[in-house]
Amino acid sequence: MTQELTDLAVTFTSQQLGLIDRHLRAGGASDRAEWVRQALFGSTPGVRTTRGERPASSPRAGRVLREVTIEPGTGKAVEVRAGQVVRVSQTTGGQCADFNVFNLNDRNEKLHVGRTRSLHGTGPTTGDFVWSNAPWERPLLVILADTGRTDTEFPSCSAQLYWRLYGERSHTNCQQMQTEAQREYGLAPHEVHESLNLFMYCAYDDPDAPQVRPNLATADDFIEFLALEDVLAVFNVCGDDFDRTNNFTFTPLVVTVLEADADDLRLAGQFARADHDFELLESPYPRAFARLVPDPDYVPAFPHAPVRMETVTFALDASELDQLIRVADLGLYGDDLAAALRDVLVTWTIHHPRLPA
Ligand SMILES: [Zn+2]
Repeated sequence: MTQELTDLAVTFTSQQLGLIDRHLRAGGASDRAEWVRQALFGSTPGVRTTRGERPASSPRAGRVLREVTIEPGTGKAVEVRAGQVVRVSQTTGGQCADFNVFNLNDRNEKLHVGRTRSLHGTGPTTGDFVWSNAPWERPLLVILADTGRTDTEFPSCSAQLYWRLYGERSHTNCQQMQTEAQREYGLAPHEVHESLNLFMYCAYDDPDAPQVRPNLATADDFIEFLALEDVLAVFNVCGDDFDRTNNFTFTPLVVTVLEADADDLRLAGQFARADHDFELLESPYPRAFARLVPDPDYVPAFPHAPVRMETVTFALDASELDQLIRVADLGLYGDDLAAALRDVLVTWTIHHPRLPA
């Protein structure tokens, strides 16, 4: 009797395939087919994600001043003048972004995640401000619209993190992408600050152990900020493909700088410069060096771009397909069984690492 087989074409990053190959070489399974069976039948059904209603909001119209697509493995620094709007949009959904902000006129003033969290909670949203560090401590931006989710609890993924957790000597990570993107403006690696995480879905029910949840952003989701000061806004496509932050894959993001409308400008006028002429702001620091200007000779050199992807086809028999449907998070992946299988395979491998003898 011949078995009915279902082909699922799963796209992995080269980093995920490297992890899987290391696992197999270390004797984790005799071949890929056995490894797939182990992962499927060794997994237990977890939480089925339910997608709540997306807040009703559409991206604002307005004259586009600049638009850039940020590819996986990269980031981009964009100037946003006071009274302009910057929007970050999904393309296909499921992608987290790290976000840094500097005052264009003084690199020492930057987004302060702690102050922002203390005033607006773990996930600042529409109507909340993005605050700067002391001694300035003022709103740099206001969130005009947010159909996704933000997070202020998790620091950036970094080269060190992948090395310490997974033994990866080279891995896409937000810290290096931020470093390379902001280098265009002469900012040094140590000037990357804690990130305001955009499109990052976390659970905070256990205050001692906040958890990263699957990424619920859809192709239509976006977050818009109105600049209250002249800022350098630095975005990158999060480099985490070993956890749910980006649902185990990477997709591009679009950053758009727009002219604000009259309402936005009224809002900006309410907050800009009010009550901020404290004496303590008179800094002896040479202001000329503090101003951020682009390097005309900058050529982006992101260490892990372009990110390589490879598609592997798995032929599942009926029992394996049944088991996939039992253990996969189909609330998240819907009928995309290939993406659901990737989640099961990578998650299982991460939690059952075979280290070389
Ligand atoms: Zn990241």
